[in-house]
Amino acid sequence: MTIKVLDKETINQIAAGEVVERPASVVKELVENALDAGSSQIGVEIRGGGIQLIKVVDNGVGIPNSEVELAFERHATSKISSPQDLLNIGSLGFRGEALPSIGAVADVELLTCAVDEKSGICLSLEGGVVTQKKGQARTRGTTITVRNLFKRVPARLKFLKSIATESSHVANVASQYALAYPEAAFSLAVDGKETLKTSGKGKLLDAIIDVYGVATASKMMTVDSTQQSWTANRGTLDIHVSGMVGAPELGRAGRGYLSFFVNRRWVSSRILPYAVEEAYSGLLMTGRHPVAVVNITLPPDEVDVNIHPAKSEVKFHNEGEVFRSVQRAVRQALTSQMPVRQVEDVAAPYKATPSSQLEQLWGTSAESEGVGPSPKESTPSLLTSLPVLRVVGQFMSAYIVAEGPEGLYLIDQHAAHERVRFDRVRRQREQKKPEVQGLLESATLEVTPRQDAIMKSCLEKLVDFGFNIESFGDRTYLVRTVPVIAAGDDWSAMLKELLDALAGEERSKWEEKMTASIACHGAIKSGQVLSEEEMGSLVRQLEQTDNPHTCPHGRPTIIKLSAAQIEREFGRQG
Ligand code: ADP
Ligand code: MG
Repeated sequence: MTIKVLDKETINQIAAGEVVERPASVVKELVENALDAGSSQIGVEIRGGGIQLIKVVDNGVGIPNSEVELAFERHATSKISSPQDLLNIGSLGFRGEALPSIGAVADVELLTCAVDEKSGICLSLEGGVVTQKKGQARTRGTTITVRNLFKRVPARLKFLKSIATESSHVANVASQYALAYPEAAFSLAVDGKETLKTSGKGKLLDAIIDVYGVATASKMMTVDSTQQSWTANRGTLDIHVSGMVGAPELGRAGRGYLSFFVNRRWVSSRILPYAVEEAYSGLLMTGRHPVAVVNITLPPDEVDVNIHPAKSEVKFHNEGEVFRSVQRAVRQALTSQMPVRQVEDVAAPYKATPSSQLEQLWGTSAESEGVGPSPKESTPSLLTSLPVLRVVGQFMSAYIVAEGPEGLYLIDQHAAHERVRFDRVRRQREQKKPEVQGLLESATLEVTPRQDAIMKSCLEKLVDFGFNIESFGDRTYLVRTVPVIAAGDDWSAMLKELLDALAGEERSKWEEKMTASIACHGAIKSGQVLSEEEMGSLVRQLEQTDNPHTCPHGRPTIIKLSAAQIEREFGRQG
């Protein structure tokens, strides 16, 4: 084949692939443009996960009538003009790629009115080609409407997740920018329902209240310090770290509540979460991650934002210094503001027993890793039901010691109880006969914008578990019944955790996750002292389950030390 330069349409499609990965990428680019235009009000609206419609309305400087077509040309930007400018980027955009990329993969309408124009102008494009241009009244600012995203790129469309997942990614983008720019009033409407509204009053705490709720906000501490260091390239380097970090008890199951803004750009970073978590070392429970909103301000030439088309990853010239600055600033905030409180000695989560050891104990190779209950067929030589066991006592407040016909048994009390609860929840759900407990006064459940997007799609299925939940508007839900099995637990925390887990992934195993969550949350903890009666009852319940040998995560509930092995160890045999 001969070499030739690609036509414009093909070039645009290729480039669009890097900039516009999913609806949330479009929202990110449009919100960044609105912020670059100095907007104090930014409204985002989406329908159908953003595939049907994305609309971003701002009150920024607008685009001059003579430049509206140019804005959709590749590499056309008002933000930089020379290579030197790349070293000193003060705007969020600079590549001049967003609008042409979005134009290449969707139908776009731009309505804008610039500062000095008498009237606004409306430009329509399909597949990047202008189909209409007409004068139209508008107050100062810009409205961009994007329809039929990826209609012409079916391959990309196939990669998108469910509408709820895409909506939740959009909600995350809006939430992050709301946290990054407390001085701008953000709103987000998902399928006609407003799910986020910030006041734009300028205080980070207000934005945190609007995004994460009052309960979380009331446990946040202020970070604000300038860390000075010496660097080879510039001598003194001042890194200013500000923001808010949560008290350790706010610890979350995932890293989704850690936000980083570098010179006011929302960035995803591999190292920064660790810097914050190091500051919390010894304060958080194992497996928990902090809530934090961290602003890092440093000279623009200390950070390269031009390493990724989506500009979401950045490269620091002095990465180590940035890491240390964040870690120190957060640690300072924690040590100076944290209420003195007894740090509970929390048991570490399960460590899967190495299978070789199990083999020794069980005389068979057992699946110790893996998620979900391991099927019985694959572990044929395990006892399919438990022998009659006599409880001897408790070891480390975590294991039940029992004697059986063939030896000594150690039962992990938490894993065992989890298994018992898991089976019970699963049975009730499968039979669609959950035991429910009505709440005398219906409880309200407040969720974040991101959780809200997922929640809507879950309501119906939650009924099978015994949760009767109704939307009450404003990211608030009314909970009328809860499953009996979860009634005494902190089911609201459990539901929120589940929504967070679902936000990032596809929901094919949704029900199983939920079942495991309910099972785990209310289960007897390791570290809890049990009476003989309680131990006996737990062992008997475990005997009744379909798979008494593993917890729902596939870790063992019971291990055996055979009489023969014990005797051998004592040198009485062989
Ligand atoms: P970039 O942001 O990298 O410059 P874009 O393709 O996102 O590239 O936008 C191209 C240009 O269109 C911008 O440089 C800016 O001049 C103009 N523009 C885009 N969106 C807006 C907006 N909401 N308000 C004012 N100007 C805008
Ligand atoms: Mg831009």
